[in-house]
Amino acid sequence: ARRVELRHLSVRYGALTAVQDVSMTIEPRTVTAFIGPSGCGKSTMLRAMNRTLELIPGSRVEGRVFIDGTAIHGSAVDPVRVRRVVGMVHQQPRPFPTMSIRDNVLAGVRLAGRRIGRGEADALVESCLRSTNLWEELSRRLDEPATSLSGGQQRRLCIARAVAVEPEVLLLDEPCSALDPLSTLTIEELIGRLREDRTVVVVTHNMQQAARISERTAFFSTDGPGTPGRLVEYDDTA
Ligand code: ADP
Ligand code: ADP
Repeated sequence: ARRVELRHLSVRYGALTAVQDVSMTIEPRTVTAFIGPSGCGKSTMLRAMNRTLELIPGSRVEGRVFIDGTAIHGSAVDPVRVRRVVGMVHQQPRPFPTMSIRDNVLAGVRLAGRRIGRGEADALVESCLRSTNLWEELSRRLDEPATSLSGGQQRRLCIARAVAVEPEVLLLDEPCSALDPLSTLTIEELIGRLREDRTVVVVTHNMQQAARISERTAFFSTDGPGTPGRLVEYDDTA
């Protein structure tokens, strides 16, 4: 778990300023909810926090993001290493459809170039599926295609795939959107467990959910389409 600090963070896509001058500190071992209307830059901020933003042509970051006091932007820092420390699950994550459940869990680890043996891989698959509350359901189905799973299970599998890389900061972009109440509850419980040894940021549209899962809520707003998102309320001192 690490402390994440945003200092005067602004993000542009070409001529559009998507996020303007956001400063905040996100404490380790907490869940922080990002709440605000569509288009106020929540996803953009997550992408700036793990350097996946720069994969989008024309994007530009100003200001700084620090992880435990170290700036993550700049040519001296390897973005791949930052992405290993700061994991992210996108808004509509998909398992790799041609891969088995097991290979999906291991996909991120393999992409990161880590060599792991059969025994270590088995242990990692089990621990990640346990932490996402999938092990009981799936332990006998590991070689089935990931596409055989329900929407809620696929969502949890994508979180398991992110957790497998052992990120100390985990960014979840609307992890419960379009899920039924039971799957939502499962993911909320999972977020509660992840906080024990991680720094977790959850984007949500749901005030009640923010109150249930997070100890801090950051409210973002914009003056309308095409105008920059900004932080309007956040209690740094809680
Ligand atoms: P939110 O997650 O709060 O809905 P986003 O971060 O997705 O907001 O978007 C913030 C603003 O940036 C919006 O005006 C959106 O249209 C714009 N935007 C998002 N992604 C891109 C992109 N890849 N290229 C250009 N503009 C983008
Ligand atoms: P080592 O390279 O021996 O693991 P470091 O102290 O360089 O030790 O890094 C420790 C961890 O912090 C690594 O997992 C690395 O990926 C991560 N890390 C290094 N620099 C940064 C940074 N600027 N921002 C975020 N994470 C970083």
